[in-house]
Amino acid sequence: MSYAIGVDLGGTNLRIAAVEERGALMEKVTLGTQVQRGRDYVVGQMTDAIRHVITKYQDHGQLIGIGIGVPGFIDMDTGTVRESPNLPGWSDYPVHKDIESRLGTKVVLENDANAAAMGEKWLGAGRDTNDMVMYTLGTGVGGGIVVDGRLWHGMNGMAGELGHHTVLPDGHPCGCGNHGCLEQYASATAVVRMAREAVAKGMSDALANASRNDVEFSSKVIYQLAIQGDKAAQEVFNTVGRSLGIAVGNMVNALNFPMYVIGGGVSSAWDAFHDSMFEELHTRSFIYRVTAPEAVKPGAKRTIVTRALLGSDAGLFGAARLPMLVNADSAVPAEQPKEGVPGTPVAGTR
Ligand code: ZN
Repeated sequence: MSYAIGVDLGGTNLRIAAVEERGALMEKVTLGTQVQRGRDYVVGQMTDAIRHVITKYQDHGQLIGIGIGVPGFIDMDTGTVRESPNLPGWSDYPVHKDIESRLGTKVVLENDANAAAMGEKWLGAGRDTNDMVMYTLGTGVGGGIVVDGRLWHGMNGMAGELGHHTVLPDGHPCGCGNHGCLEQYASATAVVRMAREAVAKGMSDALANASRNDVEFSSKVIYQLAIQGDKAAQEVFNTVGRSLGIAVGNMVNALNFPMYVIGGGVSSAWDAFHDSMFEELHTRSFIYRVTAPEAVKPGAKRTIVTRALLGSDAGLFGAARLPMLVNADSAVPAEQPKEGVPGTPVAGTR
């Protein structure tokens, strides 16, 4: 049995998994990421842990390759991290080349949200579809677009930055330089900020108490208050839902894909924001209105907007899947169209 190694490098945790070709998890290791000790330390820690897993399973089967999900803008052409707010000091660092030379093995580098989208496509909510969009609502908002079973990279690998879709012109400033990005209204960071804004306006005693007493005033605490009926906390999640509805509606209008998956930590608050999200989707997208599950006959094609299934493991499984796909793509040589015969069908790919 062949296997691959998936790595999810976050600002807080470094997770490594060995995954069999059919998707069975062999091993999962979680280590704290000591970002403050610098890039070389983190890369050293990661390559040591990967070597340890490879040694442990050397008699188990063939290692297909290693996939690594990294937060930030990644230039696929050069294998560099162009910008990563969660990994200070990594800008313009040739992470791909460095890790490959340290390990002496083929490495596939990917944006972490793209890796999560691939995980959900392979083993999660999108396993029965080939075309899907995924939003990861975490500290920030990431996105991934899967077309025909493969990640859509765009010109140089930066496609799918769905967290930076403008949902409110002149809205809250975003780290990307824009104002009113989805990330500023649907991330865990945004939920806490919006709750603090409500507290500052004196809109909720319960929120004010929680923000004073709770050492970790988190999106989870705010969600608890929302489901207990606190109006200001509910309004925070209504804003999450409306912002998502606008963003997803734009993607439905642009792509007419069958599936849009919402994952990441904030997606656990699904029942607090899904009403406002679907209401907004209906308003903003004609295509959604006519293809929504309740609008079509049983068995007809429909647009599904749904929760992710793999939780925080999506990125790990997706990262492990990447070298398997590279292998599959290169195993079947594509027949090139004969020169001078335009339109010759290309057979044998995928
Ligand atoms: Zn932005």
